[in-house]
Amino acid sequence: MPPFDVSEGDPFGPHNLPYGVFSLNGSAEDAVEGPVEDSVEGSTGSTGSTGSGRRRVGVRLGDHVLDAGAAAVALGSPYASLLDRPSLNPLLAAGRTAWSDVRRALTAWVTVPAHREVVAPLLHPLSEVTLHLPFEVADYVDFYASENHARNVGQIFRPDAEDSLTPNWKHLPIGYHGRSGTVVVSGTDVVRPSGQRKAPADPAPVFGPSVRLDIEAEVGFVVGTPSAMGTPVPLSGFRDHVFGLCLLNDWSARDLQAWEYVPLGPFLGKSFATSVSAWITPLDALEDARVTPPARTHPLLPYLDDAGEEPGGYDLRISVAVNGHVVSEPPFSTMYWTAAQQLAHMTVNGASLRTGDLYGSGTVSGVSERERGSLLELTWNGRDALELPSGKRAFLEDGDVVTLTAWAPGAGGTRVGIGEVTGRVVSA
Ligand code: CA
Repeated sequence: MPPFDVSEGDPFGPHNLPYGVFSLNGSAEDAVEGPVEDSVEGSTGSTGSTGSGRRRVGVRLGDHVLDAGAAAVALGSPYASLLDRPSLNPLLAAGRTAWSDVRRALTAWVTVPAHREVVAPLLHPLSEVTLHLPFEVADYVDFYASENHARNVGQIFRPDAEDSLTPNWKHLPIGYHGRSGTVVVSGTDVVRPSGQRKAPADPAPVFGPSVRLDIEAEVGFVVGTPSAMGTPVPLSGFRDHVFGLCLLNDWSARDLQAWEYVPLGPFLGKSFATSVSAWITPLDALEDARVTPPARTHPLLPYLDDAGEEPGGYDLRISVAVNGHVVSEPPFSTMYWTAAQQLAHMTVNGASLRTGDLYGSGTVSGVSERERGSLLELTWNGRDALELPSGKRAFLEDGDVVTLTAWAPGAGGTRVGIGEVTGRVVSA
């Protein structure tokens, strides 16, 4: 009998235990307890109108969420001060040793029969809770680390260029600073952005709702331990600073982006919304998913050279669905630049890290057409519309729902589920 009635092959079994923040639905008794200090700002982080109860740290087990703080208090755990909180930030800030200790304790709470009487009543069905943005997002950076994606985009937008990659691409992980205040939790509606657009043949720019709204399937990395300004984080410091990962959809208005991006890069075409999973998977749950990244074709400067380092890639199998229909399965293992290299590059100039920093991998695209992580690539900039059960799509229409899911290989043939990120496009 599997522990606590989670079925044997459940990708959210006790081998996984991702963290989130939840409130109980429709509990008037619970609602009078709030609001709580340190509450995560931004009601856009709520997935519904019923989640008015107190926010608390939860750990997913199967189709239930454990009230981790209540369990810690009930069991007299020394980690109650990290778990009996309305956001993950205190746990994120506690550092690598605490992360491992807390995970060990949680694993025992949901597997050791002696704890069952205390813990079982603190497991709430997912259908009875509202999931919130699990941490306060500090700075948000987005990279461009898939060679397949970068080459596709280069061919689409610079067809006459000698090389589809820019000259810097193989020498540093290209990125930009995004807008942390518009990072929203899975389930949040995304309003179609408005802005300026001008096709090359148009005589003048026009203003209006984007007509080329797209997605970018990415993986987001969540920083826990801060770093000091002036002190770069080396490749070997990755696991000391990064707590875990999530799925991330970098919604992109291609028409706004194409007109505005020269010469300073992405701006309003990206900053209207970035969606993340409600669940943060700790790196400790992904030990068996670590892989060596693709062979490096250019020599790297020492601070980025990972030849002698532990494998920096992660084998995450992503699926992209539009209105429930899978359109792509991007393999994260194909990413040229690793999250450790991105962290090293992001800090090599002395820039510091804050607890809650979030950085996106960049669109994940594999070699084949069915592995592309954006509609831009899947439809080759609208040329080849997708035939979906819900109709033809070059880019997203109002009412479309985009859902990213993923899993990673775990120990002994198990799967580690990565929390989905979903969002619906609503009209401008
Ligand atoms: Ca992106």
